[in-house]
Amino acid sequence: MSDPRALEVLRRVFGYESFRGDQRAIVDHVIAGGDALVLMPTGGGKSLCYQVPSLVRAGTGVVVSPLIALMQDQVDALTELGVRAAFLNSTQDWREAREVEQAFVNGELDLLYVAPERLLTDRCQQLLDRGRIALFAIDEAHCVSQWGHDFRPEYMGLSLLHERWPDVPRIALTATATEHTRAEIAQRLKLDEAEHFVASFDRPNIRYRIVEKNEVRKQLLEFIRAEHMGDSGVVYALSRARVEETADFLCHQGINALPYHAGLSPQVRAENQSRFLREDGIVMVATIAFGMGIDKPDVRFVAHIDLPKSVEGYYQETGRGGRDGLPASAWLAYGLQDVVQQRRMIDESQGDETFKRRLGQHLDAMLGLCETVECRRVRLLNYFGQTISACGNCDVCLEPPEAWDGTVAAQKVLSAVYRLAKERGQRYGAGHIIDILRGKSTERVAQYGHESLSVFGVGADLSESAWRGVLRQLLAKGLLQVDHDGYGTLALTEGSRAVLKGEYQLMLRRESPKAARAARGTRA
Ligand code: ADP
Repeated sequence: MSDPRALEVLRRVFGYESFRGDQRAIVDHVIAGGDALVLMPTGGGKSLCYQVPSLVRAGTGVVVSPLIALMQDQVDALTELGVRAAFLNSTQDWREAREVEQAFVNGELDLLYVAPERLLTDRCQQLLDRGRIALFAIDEAHCVSQWGHDFRPEYMGLSLLHERWPDVPRIALTATATEHTRAEIAQRLKLDEAEHFVASFDRPNIRYRIVEKNEVRKQLLEFIRAEHMGDSGVVYALSRARVEETADFLCHQGINALPYHAGLSPQVRAENQSRFLREDGIVMVATIAFGMGIDKPDVRFVAHIDLPKSVEGYYQETGRGGRDGLPASAWLAYGLQDVVQQRRMIDESQGDETFKRRLGQHLDAMLGLCETVECRRVRLLNYFGQTISACGNCDVCLEPPEAWDGTVAAQKVLSAVYRLAKERGQRYGAGHIIDILRGKSTERVAQYGHESLSVFGVGADLSESAWRGVLRQLLAKGLLQVDHDGYGTLALTEGSRAVLKGEYQLMLRRESPKAARAARGTRA
């Protein structure tokens, strides 16, 4: 039976007519005192799942959130609606914190937001004992997962909520949803009895497109000019330097772009973020430090100019587009260098072999999505354990790539790598291999006498960019690897032998001519 108070609160306090999707079932379950694990995509409406029960149940809903920067915004928004909300975090002085604590003890708060590290202190736990807790909401619950991309050690301590307050219902929420993460959240937070609510992860209004990278800034500019002039958007890059230079570049081209990364002062970050939220048509160029929890409904595009490290990250980042349900684009440019660079970064990362293997698996899944010849959405949702039919709203559906028999081309590449590997102590990257295949007499080729190699010039039939595509796909398929020497030297793998021997036909992907033109930045 549905609790009539829930609908009453939804309408009176929040001004919404009805619950969406699973919200009603979740709210009822938590009001009745049950634990819940909620998996809902960004923009799905997770907040109401704990806010409504907090208002219906006696006492204060305690919300654990890792996003200190956003607590103020959330509390302001709730206060505006007449909800008695406050937060406790390190940005307050002791006087402000005391006031909030007193209000909690007096039962004058509906919602209290707390950072996880704060909640783990004795002082905070003693405080909570002195008031009445309606429920615990654990937001961004995937932060407990070491497997995931956003691990926060403080989250590991949150199992104490169950131990110390076994009768208080807990609701954990996340927009990240592989089976693996879900199991890890349930286990680490001791949500054994929790009911799982898994929403569909499909975001049908987002059009996914992944293009071959060559001159990425030019391609980005072309994409924005052709499809999103004057729109709000986010451009993700991997490094601070790339964020800065790309934001500068866009500004020079007359696009209203702002940078955002962890190296900027907190004031500049706050200022840029608030301009992005309040003004129309700002393009935020950012590292992944930007965006978690950002609720801006009319972001019309999310562009990635570097390859994201995981499908989960990609899905979350692209999910910030089109939260209002109107059409939005997810655009990603990716190339050979991305694969080389990321494999190298994994190699050089701190951490044991298991950790590196995980990073490698994340990257492989992301590469699989990039190189797929099936519908991107099918592939993406499949990663999250959900099945749909081809979407008709991604680049693969709209402009199907061609498959071609790349066996011979791959054999040429692999033989070149094999020959060069015999020259001990020498290090050759992808560019040099392509020069050899195409028979280009560069200085380097001359210096090492590579004109005399049997593979010199055997690949004159393909363009440089076609060769890059072949190398990229061989790397993505694990038929070629980046050596552990830190120089990006290419090496054969276990799988290379079967290709060299011609044991099977290797089908490769070729962009449709239209997509290829778009990637080159020339309009059809
Ligand atoms: P999430 O945390 O899952 O990313 P939010 O809780 O921020 O999503 O909700 C996304 C947007 O949808 C918000 O603007 C919210 O006000 C709106 N929303 C959520 N539930 C409803 C509903 N039942 N009816 C109308 N709007 C809703």
